[in-house]
Amino acid sequence: MTKFKDLGLKDEVLRGVTDQGYEDAFPIQEAVIPVLLTKRDVVGQAHTGSGKTAAFALAMLNDIIPKKGIQGLIMAPTRELAIQISTEIRKMGKHTGIKIATVYGGQGMGIQLDALHRGVEIIVATPGRLIDHLKRGSIELGDITHIVLDEADTMLDMGFVDDIQFILDLSPEDRVMSLFSATMPTAILRLAEDYLHNPKQILLDADDLSGEGIDQSFLVIKDRDKFKYLLDFIKPLKGQIIVFCSTKYRTRDVAKYLHQEKYNAVAIEGDMSQSRREQSMAKFRNGKADILVATDVASRGIDVPRVELVVNYDVPNQEMAYFHRIGRTARAGTEGRAITFVSYSSIGDWNIIKRQIKVPLRDLNQEMHIEVSIPDPLKRQSSSRRFGGGNSYGRGGGGRSSYGGGGRSSGGGRSSGGGYGRNTRDDRGTKRKDTDSDGKNSYGGRSRW
Ligand code: ADP
Ligand code: MG
Repeated sequence: MTKFKDLGLKDEVLRGVTDQGYEDAFPIQEAVIPVLLTKRDVVGQAHTGSGKTAAFALAMLNDIIPKKGIQGLIMAPTRELAIQISTEIRKMGKHTGIKIATVYGGQGMGIQLDALHRGVEIIVATPGRLIDHLKRGSIELGDITHIVLDEADTMLDMGFVDDIQFILDLSPEDRVMSLFSATMPTAILRLAEDYLHNPKQILLDADDLSGEGIDQSFLVIKDRDKFKYLLDFIKPLKGQIIVFCSTKYRTRDVAKYLHQEKYNAVAIEGDMSQSRREQSMAKFRNGKADILVATDVASRGIDVPRVELVVNYDVPNQEMAYFHRIGRTARAGTEGRAITFVSYSSIGDWNIIKRQIKVPLRDLNQEMHIEVSIPDPLKRQSSSRRFGGGNSYGRGGGGRSSYGGGGRSSGGGRSSGGGYGRNTRDDRGTKRKDTDSDGKNSYGGRSRW
């Protein structure tokens, strides 16, 4: 294990690390920080919960000079993640004198303009609201030296790629840029070549997304039985729980039923006002709520160390989402559990996800002796589960490429969830219209989440 003090960081940055109680650098930090300090671009991939934030943040804090204008820009796909990253950098940068502004949709412009007027060196932003600031001149990127895309595969997905391009075009060519995510599909690695100069690829355990330290299981049940089972699973638990649902409507309903059962649950989904979203997150973070019921708006990047169980109340619509959702538990080398409820109609989708899970997966139907009687047309799909998952998935030859887009997604900005890249630009559903449209194409605003 490498100590932080051996990574070439300045004393004032190291003091911030010590304040956080970190002793040894995690593998991604050890690999990334020295490279970023030589000002080389980086593509960084490592499991969920493995400390990617500190990897990019410490290198940025080290190089940025206080009171010399905006030099660092970090972009994230959701408002809550942008807020979380700011909070973490603020703590780690406490002794550097560097100031940070968080720029995201749904919050009044005034607060953000005030922060910007006071002078900041780092901006953490969601793309839509950042563009609003760029257009009105309240943020300028001419002196930017460091850019980070966190959850980079989502940021370069079609919902965002135009916005990212617009932003990058306004920043200097010779910036140091880095991309981070737990999932880095080859299409993104290829696309990254367009944005980065001779990047060093640091891909840790890229071939196995499965989630170290997470005890994963699934249960095939009728949709209408899910809530009953949810109660059975959460009843004995003491730690915190996140329940992921596929739609906003379901999210609200499940939170409501949990309230009726006297559970201390909060919800977060894209139709809630931003202040309510933040209230829910705050209550969950500080332990005043035991359960967070969420759409995929909370699936990426959110770090709440006490989460001991993730329940996929519905199978995710997008295969990478599974790995991000379950990665909300077992943070920083701890252990956790993930249970996926598979309704009969989701068996095909689940089989596609399951093929990518490379760790033993517990079959709760077997363990709990719960018989399922699956309607005839679906039977072939379920048998592929028992016999090790062949290629006969009854999805009309769609395979991976057709998955995650058309099928069940309805409306929202993303016209299809499958592809990455610039050539998909014209397929984009809706353009941003108003100043609060931030996230409309992604996890915020009026998306399906
Ligand atoms: P990722 O972005 O890779 O999913 P995060 O950056 O959110 O992971 O970090 C996950 C957790 O690990 C956070 O709670 C963070 O405080 C903690 N952490 C990060 N680096 C260290 C370290 N070197 N030692 C101990 N804990 C760490
Ligand atoms: Mg992260």
